[in-house]
Amino acid sequence: MTRESSRTYGKRICLVCGTTFDAKYAAQLTCCDECRKMRGNMLKSTREKMQRKEFGELKNEIIVLRNEVRQLRQENQDLHEQLTLCGVRL
Ligand SMILES: [Zn+2]
Repeated sequence: MTRESSRTYGKRICLVCGTTFDAKYAAQLTCCDECRKMRGNMLKSTREKMQRKEFGELKNEIIVLRNEVRQLRQENQDLHEQLTLCGVRL
């Protein structure tokens, strides 16, 4: 094996299992296919968690907005009643 053919992108530490490995390509972050797949799953579950969190936040926002609308309706109704009592026709 010549020096040229054994050239790699250097020693790296696998992000999944922590093994030191010789990177065969620039973007390689894991030591083997199993770790690569595992990392893919980890990223996917992180994304799903983020989405769930965002969904939860949106739901809370909607609850707050609903309460505000209810309050506004109540204020509007109160105003109507007051004006009616004053004999103002709307
Ligand atoms: Zn690994």
